[in-house]
Amino acid sequence: MKSHNPEEALMNARREFGEHGGVAPSISRSATFTVMHPGTMPEIFAGLKGPDKNGCFLYSRHYNPTVDVLARYLAAMEGTEAAVCTASGMSAISCALLQICKSGDHIVASETIYGGTHALLESLLPQMNIRTTFVNITDMGAVQEAITPDTRVVFTETMGNPTLQIADIPALSAAIRNQNIKLVVDNTFSPMIFSPRLLGADVVVYSLTKYINGASDLIAGAICGDNAFIQALMDLHTGRVMLLGPTMDPRVAFDVIQRLPHLPIRMREHSRRAIAMAEMLREMAVPIVYPGLPDHPQHQLAKQLGNNGYGFGGIMAIDCGSREKAEDMMEVLQNQEKFGLIAVSLGYFDTLISCSGSSTSSEIDIEDQQRMGLSPGLLRIAIGYTGSLQTRLSQIKRAVQTAGLGKKSASKK
Ligand code: PLP
Repeated sequence: MKSHNPEEALMNARREFGEHGGVAPSISRSATFTVMHPGTMPEIFAGLKGPDKNGCFLYSRHYNPTVDVLARYLAAMEGTEAAVCTASGMSAISCALLQICKSGDHIVASETIYGGTHALLESLLPQMNIRTTFVNITDMGAVQEAITPDTRVVFTETMGNPTLQIADIPALSAAIRNQNIKLVVDNTFSPMIFSPRLLGADVVVYSLTKYINGASDLIAGAICGDNAFIQALMDLHTGRVMLLGPTMDPRVAFDVIQRLPHLPIRMREHSRRAIAMAEMLREMAVPIVYPGLPDHPQHQLAKQLGNNGYGFGGIMAIDCGSREKAEDMMEVLQNQEKFGLIAVSLGYFDTLISCSGSSTSSEIDIEDQQRMGLSPGLLRIAIGYTGSLQTRLSQIKRAVQTAGLGKKSASKK
């Protein structure tokens, strides 16, 4: 299971050189492409003649050379046959789900997911008569029980936002084997660390906005899957990406392409720092959740499913007890210690800190938040890699003491 090496797979993907042999690929910004012989247009339109089949590109909402290069690299990294890039993570998720589900179909989803995805499943898709049952995705009995004859998708994040629950992808895949159900996995929190397709997922979706791009300067997404699924998404008559049109701009694709080669280095560094901080905070008896700590409920599973060498990711959660305490802690971390920035999102080189219950998970009802273990005081800290680790450790240690979290600070009072 651990044999996939996403870094090697990326390195071995066919290299795209720029025009004139540039080490960087060229940006192909054309919206449309010139057909040299008019008689070939119908065949190009029908997909019988493409750039690789004696024809040419047609129109950039369909396929664009630069965006295709990124899709090819992502497919290689994930170990899927193909991929398609989209304008955002949300469009990747919604197009993938709408491609599989029609009116009357049913989804079983993890209750521990990004607030936007939760809203899509809970509020928007029911308007199209697609209903979702939310379950604790680590409870296989609950997953089995929620499956009905109408179920077409089991949806989960590999590492749930924001409680960092780890989904057992092989067990979920086994639970739906030989049924007409697809396992769709959002791997946004854990690129490189987990390879969901190789663990049994049918479709892997990403918000590239986070770790994969890593610079918090653009919004982008991707869907990775088998050839038939990706072609279906691009079908001229019914393809959800083709017809709903969340097209990625080639300039965005170029930026992400140029940052992919250092994704493994970045992930290792995010993880290295996060584990050092998590261990120190655990020592201080701070209520910390981090999959790399032995007391995390799915620590062994994360070890078993993870690709070797990338650690347990850059995100940790601290339960400050109340929203007010969480806000005090954020105030100290940003404005006193300069430890990070109060901002939603993650995967940046600076640390980003947010109180999930009142921000990125606020679409989820309070009762549902409680059920998924999201307390109002839960602080999500997406650890960056600027400054020295030693300085960062001192800063967060002092912040914890100032904010009155943890045993040592409590005993000082
Ligand atoms: N998936 C997860 C796990 C996320 O955290 C987010 C955004 O925070 C998304 C998907 C949506 O991504 P985007 O903002 O690129 O649409």
